[in-house]
Amino acid sequence: MRYVRQLAPQDQALAASLVGFVPGEIYDIHTHPHHPDHFAPGTWKMLEGMGPQGCEEHRLALQRIMPAKIIHGLYFGLPHQSADRPAINTWVESEVRQHGTRLSRALLLASPADDPAQVAAALRSGKFCGLKVYHVYSRRTDTMNATIEEFAPDWMWELLHEVRGVMLLHLVRDGAMEDASNQRSLRRLCRAYPNAQLILAHIARSFNYRNARHGLRWVADLDNAVVDTSAICESEAFRAALKILGPRRVLWGSDFAVSEIRGRCVATGDSFFWLHPEVLRPDYAAPTATRMTLVGLESLLCLREACEDSGLTAGDIEDIFRHNALRLLAPHLPKVAAPSPQSSAP
Ligand SMILES: [Zn+2]
Repeated sequence: MRYVRQLAPQDQALAASLVGFVPGEIYDIHTHPHHPDHFAPGTWKMLEGMGPQGCEEHRLALQRIMPAKIIHGLYFGLPHQSADRPAINTWVESEVRQHGTRLSRALLLASPADDPAQVAAALRSGKFCGLKVYHVYSRRTDTMNATIEEFAPDWMWELLHEVRGVMLLHLVRDGAMEDASNQRSLRRLCRAYPNAQLILAHIARSFNYRNARHGLRWVADLDNAVVDTSAICESEAFRAALKILGPRRVLWGSDFAVSEIRGRCVATGDSFFWLHPEVLRPDYAAPTATRMTLVGLESLLCLREACEDSGLTAGDIEDIFRHNALRLLAPHLPKVAAPSPQSSAP
C-alpha cells in the first residue's frame, strides 16, 4: 500500500459527493504526522520516498478528499518499537506549535517504560494535552494480546486524571470490547480516574463491526469514554456506536496518513481483513485499476450512510466533526473555543 499522491477521477467524484455532509470547519481527533528521520528506512512502506508530513501536509491531504476549509487536529507520532520516540515527541510538539491551527494540540507518545516524572513534566508543561499509548510498548512478545494495563499502566491514568488529559487508546486482544479483560480494565480505570478522558480509537477497534454491536455497551455508562471513527470502513460499526453511545460520544478522526492509502477493512467471521489493491490484484501495476478508493474517503462515505440511517441532525453532525472534540479538549483550549455542554452551537 502506498500514499496516494494523485487522486483518480473516481476518487474526486466521491470526494465531491461529500459536499453538504462534511462541515466547513472540522477537528481531526486522530492524526499522525510523520518525519522519516525518526524511523529506520523501510519502516513505513506507505510513506516510502516521502518527506516530512506535518500539520500543513495533513490539512492539504485531507482537503483533497473532503470539503472542509478549516482543519484542526490532535496530533501524535506513529508508534513503532524501533522509532526514536523522544525525537518524535519533540518534533510533533514543535510542528503543532508552529504549523497547527490555534486549536490544534499534541499528545505525547508514551511507553510504560518511560520515567513517570518526565511524563508528568511534559503533561504539566502544557506542551501535551495527553498521551498516545500503544500495545507495541508492552513487555511481551505477543503484544496483540496485551492487557490494557500492560501498555497503559495506572500511573499514566493517575497523571491524566490530575491534568484532565486525554488518552488515545487502540485496543488489542481478539474481540476488542468483547474481550472480558478489556472490559474489566476499562471499567476499573475509567471509574478510578474520572478526569482522564479516554478516546477508544477506531470505534474501540471495531474493524469487525460485530465487536461494536456486542461490545460497546460495556463502556456506555462510562462518561469519560468516547470513540473515534478513524479508519473504520463499515457503516455498521458507526451505526452501532451512534445507537449505543450516541452522537455526542463519536468523534471524527482520519488516522492520517492511513487515510491516504487505497483500501478498506472488512469484517469476516469473528475477525477482520485489510483489503488493498495490491492484495486484490498483485499483478496490476496501476492500483486504481481495482477502483478501490482511499481509506479516508471510504470511511467518510460509510459514516455519512450511518448518519443518514440513524436520522442524525445537522447539529449532531457538527458534534461528530468538531464540537465533541472541543468539549473533550476544553481544559486545554482557550475558553471561547468550547461549545457549551448543553447546546451543540459553539
Ligand atoms: Zn492511528
